[in-house]
Amino acid sequence: MKIENRVALITGSGQGIGKAIAQTFAGEGAKIAINDVPFNEAKALATLAELRAAGVDAELFLADVTKEDEVDAMVEAVRARFGRVDILVNNAGINRDGLLHKGSLANWDAVMAVNLTGPFICTKAVLPSMRAQGYGRIVNMSSLTGRVGIFGTGYYGTSKTGLVGLTKITAVENVSKGITCNALAPGYVNTDMMNKYPEDQLTALIASIPMGRFAEPKELADAALFLASDASAYITGAVLDINGGSFI
Ligand code: NAD
Repeated sequence: MKIENRVALITGSGQGIGKAIAQTFAGEGAKIAINDVPFNEAKALATLAELRAAGVDAELFLADVTKEDEVDAMVEAVRARFGRVDILVNNAGINRDGLLHKGSLANWDAVMAVNLTGPFICTKAVLPSMRAQGYGRIVNMSSLTGRVGIFGTGYYGTSKTGLVGLTKITAVENVSKGITCNALAPGYVNTDMMNKYPEDQLTALIASIPMGRFAEPKELADAALFLASDASAYITGAVLDINGGSFI
């Protein structure tokens, strides 16, 4: 997929889909900047240790993607450590369920901050150097809930729809600078984010998926690899659905 020696910064990559992306990119020879929040440092350090044990050139950068000063310092530190940033995956995300008519502004703000403002802050932090070097790949982790209206996902789904908008504007504003920006829209994926739901709810969700199962994180990582590589050079502003055939 031609990402050997590319420098990839993957937000929220201490666990889950982000970790699978880090492992997959590393397997193709990329240099890996892991990011996570300080409260998830233990898992992020374990991910870093696994990568290094496999001989990967990797480093951990703790930063909260909602904090502009932390993100700017992180991107500077990644550049100091690896010399450049070629790939940004805006993967960090949180979920809060809730019906809009009983909505909580605190939940709304929390979800928007991580899922939409975070990618904006990270994107604007990497764009100047990507534009200067004439190369960049930005992959945003949207969701099925950003594509169709799913009951009870008001905060999360709205943030993920917004991320599709950010993807398209980032794509169009930077298309002349060798930068592409695309989004992935996963259905349900086997990670901590889903595993917190009760068994009966998970069974009902699985029954609603034509392929009859959740995705594995690696299946998202392979799609992220495509969008982060030169194999997708003529694709920008696109949203790739990865959902086992839901709502097709
Ligand atoms: P996860 O909860 O396992 O991992 C999320 C990671 O983001 C964690 O490591 C967490 O510590 C980190 N994070 C949270 N807030 C952060 C912040 N402010 N700054 C930096 N890091 C932060 O979830 P996951 O399933 O691996 O989800 C990864 C992405 O995929 C998210 O954007 C999520 O919305 C999206 N997604 C997940 C599913 C699913 O079914 N699991 C479906 C569609 C989209």
